[in-house]
Amino acid sequence: MADALVCWKCGASLASLLLPFGRAEVCPACNADVRVCRMCEFFDPTRSKQCRETVVDEVRDKERANFCGYFKPKPGAHRAGDDAAARAREQLEKLFGGKT
Ligand SMILES: [Zn+2]
Repeated sequence: MADALVCWKCGASLASLLLPFGRAEVCPACNADVRVCRMCEFFDPTRSKQCRETVVDEVRDKERANFCGYFKPKPGAHRAGDDAAARAREQLEKLFGGKT
């Protein structure tokens, strides 16, 4: 099941949702919007706009449902994006004294 679609936030299976995801679609487990950058094939935290596509209008909130025409749900989005982002945040917090 390497290509299963899972919630970017909680990792729950999104197999019950119909594709393509509409803007109103949410994770059945945690209610997070699923048509979001964090769930997208083109999401890339290392890019300036965190997107591998040449977006005209930057989607600022990566965790809110968007109208982006490039949206393509990425299998295994939970692990992919989150770990790297969480690690980066941790390191930053360490660097600047953290918020403990
Ligand atoms: Zn979820």
